Amino acid sequence: MSNKYEGHISKENLTKIESWLQGKGINRECGFCNENEWTIKDNLVWSWAPDNSGKVPELLMVCLNCGNTMHFNAVVMGLK
Ligand SMILES: [Zn+2]
Repeated sequence: MSNKYEGHISKENLTKIESWLQGKGINRECGFCNENEWTIKDNLVWSWAPDNSGKVPELLMVCLNCGNTMHFNAVVMGLK
């Protein structure tokens, strides 16, 4: 696995996230620049739910090369 993740995250969460991504067969090359270097933070962000029923926690992965930012639902990932 050639992924590089920059700090800001606990070893425990990183392991959990890594195995979740692998288990889903998610391609981690950046969809815009094809690089494979990301930064992830422990801090979740809150976004509005699509049906406006409230907020959902999300994990952000930011491409270190181009800044493309992916949002993953933390509930679906089992982090929350
Ligand atoms: Zn990128």
